[in-house]
Amino acid sequence: MTSAYVFASAADAAGKFSGARPGNVYSRFTNPTVRSFEQRVACMEGAEDGVAFSSGMAAIVAIAHAWLVAGKNVVCSRDVFGTTLTAFRHYFGKLGADVRVVSLVDIEEWRKAIDSNTAFVFLETPSNPILNIAAIAKIAHLAHTCGAKVVVDNTLLTPTQQNPLKHGADVVVHSAGKYIDGQGRCVAGVVLGSEQLMADIRAVIRVMGASLSPMDAWLLLKSLETLELRMAAISRNAQQLARWLCSQPKIGRVYYTGLSEHPQYELACSQQSGHGGVLSFEVGIGRECAWHLIDSLKLISIATSIGDTRTMVTHPASTTHGKLTALEREKAGVSERLVRLSVGLESPADITNDLGVALSNVHVLQDKLVQLARSEV
Ligand SMILES: *Cc1c(COP(=O)(O)O)cnc(C)c1O
Repeated sequence: MTSAYVFASAADAAGKFSGARPGNVYSRFTNPTVRSFEQRVACMEGAEDGVAFSSGMAAIVAIAHAWLVAGKNVVCSRDVFGTTLTAFRHYFGKLGADVRVVSLVDIEEWRKAIDSNTAFVFLETPSNPILNIAAIAKIAHLAHTCGAKVVVDNTLLTPTQQNPLKHGADVVVHSAGKYIDGQGRCVAGVVLGSEQLMADIRAVIRVMGASLSPMDAWLLLKSLETLELRMAAISRNAQQLARWLCSQPKIGRVYYTGLSEHPQYELACSQQSGHGGVLSFEVGIGRECAWHLIDSLKLISIATSIGDTRTMVTHPASTTHGKLTALEREKAGVSERLVRLSVGLESPADITNDLGVALSNVHVLQDKLVQLARSEV
C-alpha cells in the first residue's frame, strides 16, 4: 500500500524513471501488490503478462486507446455488456474510428465486417443475458487473415472455465469485480495478453490513470485462491437450477449453455470447461409476471451486478437493457418476460425453494390476468 517509492540515489531515480532500471516509480504506473495480481491472472489465462485497472470499463477503454486510430475500424458483437456497446458506438466513434456492430453468432456477418483496416475485433462469450456463444477460433482466423487483433471479454466464465487465448484470441479482458473477486467487494478490471501487447496497454494506463488500488489488488489476490472452487460450485448450482426451471410450469425458454438443448451446446463444450453462473429464463406472460416473481423473492437479492456469493436477480428489459428501443430489445432477445439470475453459493435447495414460492405467486397473478382479459372480451 503505497503511492510512491523511495529511491536509493539520484542515479537510481533517474534510471527507474527512464525505464533503464527495473523497479517501481509511482503506483499509477506499477505497484508490487497489483503486479502480483496481474501476474497470477496472466498465469491462469495462459498469457505472458497482464495489466490491472480500476474497473472493467477502464480496461476496455484502454484497449481502444492503445489500438484504435482515426481511419481504422473496429468490429464488435451486438451482444456485449451495455456500457461496452455505448463506449464503442459513442466514444470510440468520436475518435474517428468506424465502429461495425455484428451478430455474435453469425460468422458471415463477421466475415463481411472485418477487413484490412480493422484494428481489432471485440466479443463477449457467452453473452449476457441470453447466453449466446461466439466461435472464437473461427472469428480469430478471419481477423488474423486481415491482420486484426482479437479481444475477448471473459468475465462470465473466468480463467477457470474458459481460456480464449488457447482458441486464437490475442487479448482477454475481465471485469474482475464480478466472479474473480466473487464477493461483491470491489470494482476492478484486468487485460491479459503477450508481453508486447501488454506494453501498449501499460503505456495507456500511465496516461489514463485508471490504476487498480493496492488494497483492491490484495482482496483480489485472496479471491484467486478460491476462484476455481467457487466457480465449480456456482456452475453446479446453476446447472441444477437450469434443469429445475425447465421442469416448471409457466416457465418459457431457459437460457444456459450447460443445457444440452442450448442451440450451441456443442460449441460451448468445445471451448468452455464449465458454464458459469449466469442463466436467464422467461416467466408468465409479460412484465407484470416477471416483476411479481422478482418482488416475491426473499433469499435472492435484486441487483444488476453478477458474480457474488449470493444469488442475484434482475429484469434486463427495465434495467440493463432499459435504454434500448423495443425493437433493439427484441433483436437482442430480451423480452419483457425475461428474468436473469446470477447464481451464488447458497444451497441449491434454498434457491429453488425461494423461486418455487415466487413462481406459485406468479401463477396466481397470471390466472387473474387471463381471467381479466377474458372478461374484457
Ligand atoms: C460488468 C461488466 C463489464 C464492465 O466492468 P466494470 O468493472 O463494471 O467496469 C464488462 N463486461 C462484462 C461482461 C461485465 O459483466
